[in-house]
Amino acid sequence: MKKEIIIIGGGAAGMVAAISAAKNGASVTILEHKEKLGKKILATGNGKCNYTNLHQTMECYRSENISFIEEVFSHFNEKDTIAFFQELGIYPKSKNGYLYPNSEQASSVVDVLMMELKRLQVDIRYNENVKDIKPIDNGYQIDTLVTVTETKKGNENNNKKASNSKNISKNKREKLTTVDTYKNSYQAKKVIVATGGMASSKLGSDGSGYYLLKQLGHTIVPVVPALVQLKAEGDFFEMVAGVRCDARLQIFVDGMAVASEEGELQLTNYGISGIPVFQISRYAAKALLDKKQVQVVIDFLPQVELSELEELLKQRINASLHKTTEEALIGLLNQKLIQMLLSQLDKRYKQPLDISKLAKMMKQFSVTITDTNSFENAQVCAGGIDTAEITATTLESKLHQGLYVVGELLDVDGICGGYNLQWAWSTGYIAGKSATLK
Ligand SMILES: Cc1cc2nc3c(=O)[nH]c(=O)nc-3n(C[C@H](O)[C@H](O)[C@H](O)COP(=O)(O)OP(=O)(O)OC[C@H]3O[C@@H](n4cnc5c(N)ncnc54)[C@H](O)[C@@H]3O)c2cc1C
Repeated sequence: MKKEIIIIGGGAAGMVAAISAAKNGASVTILEHKEKLGKKILATGNGKCNYTNLHQTMECYRSENISFIEEVFSHFNEKDTIAFFQELGIYPKSKNGYLYPNSEQASSVVDVLMMELKRLQVDIRYNENVKDIKPIDNGYQIDTLVTVTETKKGNENNNKKASNSKNISKNKREKLTTVDTYKNSYQAKKVIVATGGMASSKLGSDGSGYYLLKQLGHTIVPVVPALVQLKAEGDFFEMVAGVRCDARLQIFVDGMAVASEEGELQLTNYGISGIPVFQISRYAAKALLDKKQVQVVIDFLPQVELSELEELLKQRINASLHKTTEEALIGLLNQKLIQMLLSQLDKRYKQPLDISKLAKMMKQFSVTITDTNSFENAQVCAGGIDTAEITATTLESKLHQGLYVVGELLDVDGICGGYNLQWAWSTGYIAGKSATLK
């Protein structure tokens, strides 16, 4: 008899878990509360889907339990991901090790996954919002709230067991209206929870997975937004909003340096954004949650040493006595940035121009971080289900036999660069296969 497996959530981890389980002979059902699968995948990599990275070290991942991640990747790593997707039709394109489908369309990734789910006859139930998972004799009961929708044009019931081909990334957006809701119930021997975290909830992951697993006794490591913009103190940000420049950032928590990143910094009217900010943001979010002091020190000229910069500034200013200080600095940094730094120098020191203080201001500009942007603006969550309660070789819960937890829901987050999807593919694949074995 075929093993029956229910997968809650049809995102990156859920779709791969379904394929892996069905390939190993299981009868698989996906319960998805949105009207299509893989909505978040479509938004990844600016619509191009950076689906993994050739450079993999444990420094690219964060968790309370790094050895758990190593164990998972020893069973399914980036090479397996590349082979898995190549078999489905995705020809990889590497940009400095960051992998994208050669089509540069995230929709290609969703399309090939949907075609495989169809080939393997995976049953996909859309608009099924899972509200409860109850252990019963020999398995689980899953209670859902079903939303019946109508398209604007007619009375088409969108909750019918959907034909997969119908859902392959349509460009045309249908306007769906809710006409009814009702309760539904399923039973299965094995359940894989793949509901994602709570970043960008409009794409499906609304945090309900944390609630479902908490009800089953699992511990949640506090969840905060990660890969997110940072809000900072200071009205001077208005002056530089929109400026982009290469910079080196160092983050200090209660005065201790915890991480540094270099890359294109984006200054906004509320604080700082851009890839280097995303990379350090989870440290800020965790520290702010613990009510700690967070400072980011910005080096606007990482390519020169402080002493070199002092010399350079002296030469420029002394050689241009016919110019104002601001005019003498034009060409060195963005003009709005020069104006802001000079006004801050004036405000902070209230004394005639001191070149060594100006050089320090350019290389050690300290800002106080007050908050992160919301989960809605975050690409991922840091924190989640405590991995101490999950078996790394199978992704099975240590508290409930036959219950598996995968993807972003777990207390693992990656830096920017394809690492979060790699985590979703790896955990999904292993859980799907393991669920068919026992
Ligand atoms: C804008 C953006 C860009 C990103 N770019 C990249 C990138 O280029 N590379 C990279 O590696 N990572 C990227 N990420 C992160 C990556 O997309 C996620 O880490 C990954 O999708 C997580 O996979 P998942 O399957 O765990 O969760 P998700 O992909 O979020 O899927 C969860 C699924 O579960 C469904 N669901 C949730 N709750 C329920 C419920 N109660 N009942 C039924 N269904 C439910 C959701 O609708 C969803 O379909 C990006 C994220 C964002 C927001």
